[in-house]
Amino acid sequence: MALAFDEFGRPFIIIREQEKKTRLRGLDAQKANNASGKAVSRILRTSLGPKGMDKMLQSPDGDVTITNDGATILEQMDVDNQIAKLMVELSRSQDYEIGDGTTGVVVMAGALLEQAEKLLERGIHPIRVAEGYEMASRIAFDHLERISQKFEFSADNIEPLVQTCMTTLSSKIVNRFKRALAEIAVKAVLAVADLERKDVNLDLIKVEGKVGGKLEDTELIYGIVVDKDMSHPQMPKRIEDAKIAILTCPFEPPKPKTKHKVDIDTVEKFQTLREQEQKYFDEMVQKCKDVGATLVICQWGFDDEANHLLMHRNLPAVRWVGGVELELIAIATGGRIVPRFQELSPEKLGKAGLVREKSFGTTKDRMLYIEQCANSRAVTIFIRGGNKMMIEETKRSLHDALCVARNLIRNNSIVYGGGSAEISCSIAVETAADRHPGVEQYAIRSFADALDAVPLALAENSGLPPIDTLTAVKAQQVKESNPHCGIDCNDVGTNDMKEQNVFETLIGKQQQILLATQVVKMILKIDDVISPSEY
Ligand code: ADP
Repeated sequence: MALAFDEFGRPFIIIREQEKKTRLRGLDAQKANNASGKAVSRILRTSLGPKGMDKMLQSPDGDVTITNDGATILEQMDVDNQIAKLMVELSRSQDYEIGDGTTGVVVMAGALLEQAEKLLERGIHPIRVAEGYEMASRIAFDHLERISQKFEFSADNIEPLVQTCMTTLSSKIVNRFKRALAEIAVKAVLAVADLERKDVNLDLIKVEGKVGGKLEDTELIYGIVVDKDMSHPQMPKRIEDAKIAILTCPFEPPKPKTKHKVDIDTVEKFQTLREQEQKYFDEMVQKCKDVGATLVICQWGFDDEANHLLMHRNLPAVRWVGGVELELIAIATGGRIVPRFQELSPEKLGKAGLVREKSFGTTKDRMLYIEQCANSRAVTIFIRGGNKMMIEETKRSLHDALCVARNLIRNNSIVYGGGSAEISCSIAVETAADRHPGVEQYAIRSFADALDAVPLALAENSGLPPIDTLTAVKAQQVKESNPHCGIDCNDVGTNDMKEQNVFETLIGKQQQILLATQVVKMILKIDDVISPSEY
């Protein structure tokens, strides 16, 4: 700190910026960064695999989430360390690109950091470590391609797809119901998939949940389900061959702007205004009827009077439908969203074979089902469950399953799971290290050791002795030249993952290795950390 004076002689204090900052350099910086990365990875390690533990997270406003999904755990964790945030980003990227393998990618990155620390302590320059890792990741990437298998399925033979989705779901809380959920996910994806172009638009799959009932009641609806009901209890609950007007304009007379004033000082004036209003409603209803609409779906609300009139004129209506849902309804029914009554025309109406209101149990909960739509390529998965937490977790698990099915349609190569692909890559990378004479060989070997982290964690989480199990499986892979040997987490009796039907998509696994290597390289290259001091 220093005292100085400005041109008018007034004193002021100069605080030197650097004094307020803490700074870590060189090996200290790398060690601190590694430690933060590893801390995040350690949290997720116990959640990996079919026997992984779940985490319970409480948000600041008291909402509780119980989950096993890596991306969700990290998303909800309040981290303010920059490196920890990178790990959160890492898991998010995997979720965004692939949708599955979010825990595995963080465990992998943690293991790479752990190995890197040992190398740095031995005096190997971080750049050499980063380069070694890069080479090793490419070897592993190519090796995965080599051990991958093509996986045949067709629209009539969906069983292989169902099996893969079941692998994903088996490590989730909902695994008791995995077969049915996997079937739902696959059917949903196939309903919206374009098999010629190998493309799937997941936006066309709406996942809706409602508390109540059992998980077994979860169903796939070829159409749209909206958490709304008819605006008047006496409106019909079932409309066949519906012609739907989808409106974003309010069903009400225009309101005077604040700068205008309407003076009503006599009963007659009030009557006139009322009649005017009624006439206005009447015209709107008439307009809908004229174009042939048999159902109105409206983004806005309408008051009791309008509601009554709609019921009276026999025009069923639904109010307060959200923008996203409105869009989906428009896509599904082939209709157009109409922003002004004047623009209504018969060709803008959406068409659905059946619109029905369904009520649930003894509660007054009602949902609107829009089925047999003109464009049948929009579906809804409707989840039931005992409580909100269960429904939310089911939604997340289904998201993973949907992504897996989509990935397989895009690229139908698979590798086997249970850590078998990692072990096989580890052996391949280890062998390749011998061919590299430079310092990088140490980093390449360390990469091979890091690849063992996934099978080790899987064994540990299943209550098996990790090192013994891993060495036995590795020896078996070498002896039998069988890259499908993995960790028998569920104690099935065989560790051949092909027999156990435990697959993962090739692109998912490759992406895990690429992303984990990228982030670790980035962390290794940081040798100076400047941060504001605590004081
Ligand atoms: P992620 O979020 O990374 O997908 P999971 O908790 O879903 O993490 O665990 C996935 C790991 O569990 C993968 O390595 C997968 O191969 C493995 N796995 C899943 N089911 C089985 C099983 N039945 N036996 C052995 N390993 C399994």
